Amino acid sequence: MLEITKQSIEKATAKARIAKPLVKVIEFRRYSVTNRETGATYEVRFTKIGGRKFGECNCKATKICYHISSCLPINAVLASQMIQTA
Ligand SMILES: [Zn+2]
Repeated sequence: MLEITKQSIEKATAKARIAKPLVKVIEFRRYSVTNRETGATYEVRFTKIGGRKFGECNCKATKICYHISSCLPINAVLASQMIQTA
């Protein structure tokens, strides 16, 4: 698991804006991310531990990858809906 901070996602966010992968929601905090060019699909999961956010992806990257950063906006929207309905 990799900690999600402004610094750690900076490069990945820039790459996600260019790559624009296809993000599908599997369930809250679990997403499927498909590279539009290669068709490769990866699974991204998020966890929150003591107010810190972590993400993991099953691609080869050892740092926060653009698959993880691509899911963050939708995860934030879903998280805010969860709070409202809770
Ligand atoms: Zn990845």
